[in-house]
Amino acid sequence: MHRFFVSKEYINKDMVVFEENIKHQINNVLRLNSGEEILVFDNSGYEYLVELQNVNDRLICGNVRNKTEVNTEPLIEITLLQSVLKSNQKFEYILQKCTELGVKRFIPIITSRTIPRTTSSWINSKRRRWGKIICEAAEQSGRVILPELLDLQFFNEIYYSNHELSVILWEDEKIESIKSALSLIASFKPNSKLKINLIVGPEGGFEGSEIKHAKNTGIKPVSLGSRILRADTAGIAAVSCIMYEFDQFKS
Ligand code: SAH
Repeated sequence: MHRFFVSKEYINKDMVVFEENIKHQINNVLRLNSGEEILVFDNSGYEYLVELQNVNDRLICGNVRNKTEVNTEPLIEITLLQSVLKSNQKFEYILQKCTELGVKRFIPIITSRTIPRTTSSWINSKRRRWGKIICEAAEQSGRVILPELLDLQFFNEIYYSNHELSVILWEDEKIESIKSALSLIASFKPNSKLKINLIVGPEGGFEGSEIKHAKNTGIKPVSLGSRILRADTAGIAAVSCIMYEFDQFKS
């Protein structure tokens, strides 16, 4: 059944009103009819079964037929601080896959070797599209809470709030693997709500000075093994490791 994110203000008791973009999808893309049902979520943790009404009118609305509390969110809150990539397509692929995997929030970051094109106007033109990709991935994957997309940050200015663990993926790390870094936490905090920062570099990797800065600010460099992964592989692999280590792949 089709699922849509609808902002809270568009749901009033048993009535839902659909914004232009969803109206277009209902009417012109999916060609749904009045009486058909869709699922709606609004970041409240609830999912609404909605019967469509007045589909061909200017204002499409729907009647809430059922409201259920749905918990598809992982216990582990991962903040993925992903360097903006030369290939915007690859960056968007990371957003989509990591939304499916359960990432809580995304922070696009600029590092020393991030490509020069990332001017604020370029980023702003992409943010809207990035938000749409995250929303569509959340709708498709059955999430009821939209991952957040925070503003662009510079690597050396990142503020690490009260996260239990901050790791930076570094292909030259020879001692700490992602498993050793995670198993330490998983052993003494099983099944508890944890917050983890995960930092992933650009195609060119991190400068030595950036790794030094990370270590000085309590961020742990970890290895994903001896093979060099592409930037769009590394973040997805690491998120999968975290979800597995904390047993978040169970229904
Ligand atoms: N410097 C690399 C390319 C970087 S890959 C090269 O020599 O080609 C892009 C990012 O993916 C890196 O900044 C790092 O964050 C991550 N990454 C890739 N392979 C990794 C590995 N084996 N262990 C940890 N992180 C890795």
